[in-house]
Amino acid sequence: MKPAPFEYHRPTTVAEATDLLAEHGDAELLAGNQSLGIVMANRLATPDHLVDLNTVEELAYVEERDDAVAIGAMTRHRTIERSGLLAERLPMLPEAAEQIAGPSVRNRGTLGGSVGEADPAGNYPAALVALDATLEIVSAEEEREVPVSDYFVAYMFTDLAEDELIRAAEIPTDPFPPDRTGMAFLELKPTAQTWPTVSAATAVRVDDPDADEPVVEEARLALANAADVPLRVGEAETEVEGEPLSEGVLEAVAEKATAAADPEDEMHADSEFKIEVAGEYARRSLAKSYDRATNATTDDTTEP
Ligand SMILES: Cc1cc2nc3c(=O)[nH]c(=O)nc-3n(C[C@H](O)[C@H](O)[C@H](O)COP(=O)(O)OP(=O)(O)OC[C@H]3O[C@@H](n4cnc5c(N)ncnc54)[C@H](O)[C@@H]3O)c2cc1C
Repeated sequence: MKPAPFEYHRPTTVAEATDLLAEHGDAELLAGNQSLGIVMANRLATPDHLVDLNTVEELAYVEERDDAVAIGAMTRHRTIERSGLLAERLPMLPEAAEQIAGPSVRNRGTLGGSVGEADPAGNYPAALVALDATLEIVSAEEEREVPVSDYFVAYMFTDLAEDELIRAAEIPTDPFPPDRTGMAFLELKPTAQTWPTVSAATAVRVDDPDADEPVVEEARLALANAADVPLRVGEAETEVEGEPLSEGVLEAVAEKATAAADPEDEMHADSEFKIEVAGEYARRSLAKSYDRATNATTDDTTEP
């Protein structure tokens, strides 16, 4: 099937893009077209107007700010995968990017498209929830900042209004000094090109990486595809904080993640299996983060 007819617009600035959204009630934004094209070809979306962001150059950047890194909405997965700044300050993001599909999807797909699509299986949604990111959202009328945890409302349903676009995500870096932080993005998927069954996005900051038993000061855990929105598991984070990471703590993490997960059945994985993977990958990803923060070796790669 071919997409239903639409009028195509090619703005060159954010202001032009938001004016077009204000003018045309039934407009859809076009970013990397790795998801929208499929949806439109199947006529699951039939917008009358398409606003192409590919010529809005001001939306493509990775930049350091005061105690934060900002990533523009039109930044491609490939750029995130290869960013030296992100590798140093927020390595969870390049690790999440490099596992998305194959090179053709990563060369075109964007951060804004992934967050705009809001698939709970998406890599960035879970990573940004784990990292306490804030989204910059703009319309022709106003600009607002939304904590990413408030943005994902229900299954593929978000806080974004029809006349708004995501301009950037800002991620605080002060909780994560590189010399005593470890991060990981770990996913299970049936084949390299497909979406993951379940993923875990984790970060761990320790007090002293050279101590005999470094104590975890702060831990983060979010799961992808384990619920109808990206799932932050605060109960598991509390289990980890305030002591060195031990096998007992990791068992408690797996229990909390398992209890929090509430996924749907899918063709290749029923909910029972996804819950089991959620617990195992939460445990495994936190162990990897701790190892990276401390140069220890607690990571256990037994298959679930
Ligand atoms: C074979 C395949 C495998 C994939 N595997 C994975 C995977 O494992 N993990 C993963 O995370 N993703 C995966 N993806 C999805 C990929 O990451 C896409 O790039 C992403 O979902 C959509 O990004 P896009 O830039 O192509 O957006 P588009 O397809 O252009 O747009 C997607 C939606 O976002 C909206 N949108 C775009 N930009 C904005 C903006 N700035 N503000 C608000 N809304 C906006 C659009 O209107 C549209 O509704 C896969 C895709 C394919 C084709």
